[in-house]
Amino acid sequence: MLIEQGEPKIIVAVRKRPLNKKEMNKGDVDIVDVQNQQSQVIVKEQRMKVDLTKYIEEHQFNFDAAFDENTTNEQLYLQIVRPIVEAAFNKAKVTCFAYGQTGSGKTYTMLGDYQERVPGLYLLAAYDIFCLLNNECYGHLQISISFYEIYCGKLFDLLNERTLLHAREDAKGNVNVVGLQERKVQSVEQLMKVIEQGSASRITASNSSNNDSSRSHAILQITLKDGNKCHGKLSFIDLAGSERGADVSDTNKQTRFDGAEINKSLLALKECIRALDLNKNHTPFRGSKLTLVLKDSFVGNCKTVMIGNFSPSNSSSEHTLNTLRYADRVK
Ligand code: ADP
Ligand code: MG
Repeated sequence: MLIEQGEPKIIVAVRKRPLNKKEMNKGDVDIVDVQNQQSQVIVKEQRMKVDLTKYIEEHQFNFDAAFDENTTNEQLYLQIVRPIVEAAFNKAKVTCFAYGQTGSGKTYTMLGDYQERVPGLYLLAAYDIFCLLNNECYGHLQISISFYEIYCGKLFDLLNERTLLHAREDAKGNVNVVGLQERKVQSVEQLMKVIEQGSASRITASNSSNNDSSRSHAILQITLKDGNKCHGKLSFIDLAGSERGADVSDTNKQTRFDGAEINKSLLALKECIRALDLNKNHTPFRGSKLTLVLKDSFVGNCKTVMIGNFSPSNSSSEHTLNTLRYADRVK
């Protein structure tokens, strides 16, 4: 393995959300202890022996960063995301993933909470981006946004009435999403308007019976352009609920198919990040649609931040352990 000088290419972080009202009303308890300073997580899993006596099994994990339930989006942003925003200005292609079970806080992390006026990573990055553009060495750059989702292995443009799109690999090996809308934006407000529009397009769809945002990956890409050339790129990915990858034995044929697709993409993602970490020459990006469209973010000058979101509740212990194990194996 080559040891690279300087900053790491991959940061793996995990984030615990607070126990919610519904869980508290059910009498659920918090079984996860996060030590921010030590970047450590301890899960106290409640188990039962065959003779029905209860016991606790402890699982300990260490990551590059671990955030407890009191950590704000701002604190998380400053510690692990701002450095990759700066790297994008330094010509890197950077990606931030939110992984986890449905309801674990992926969208809260990315988009924030409008009603509670909590900014998410999108907005926090937008502030920094437009602040950096005021710096004279970046004054020539322009910002353009695209926003699409992958659902059942198909691409849909969230900025263009969910038009079906296709990814093509050209002779040089560049992967393009043909016909994808790109919106130029000149202020934080304009950027957030575009994001709001795209997110609404996701949310509306989640109300129809045959679609559900927990089964789709949402990809927001912010490109720093120097004329027609790409100077740097930031991708924020709100992944499909990781538990959906386990729907492979569901009796509903469509659900089973979606589950298999999601499972495939999350496994392929893990392999691509591992290849990046090990500085392998070969990245298996063709393993899924998700990794195919992110090809340019897995090669060359690139950086990745993975945030594994989880619930503290005893009733989610299996999914929480799955998320922590996934994050543990990425690097
Ligand atoms: P996901 O996108 O993973 O399905 P959400 O982000 O929608 O999950 O979170 C589920 C619920 O939990 C939402 O009501 C959200 O506001 C809340 N929530 C998630 N993370 C946090 C947090 N860190 N602090 C407070 N509330 C949170
Ligand atoms: Mg969500």
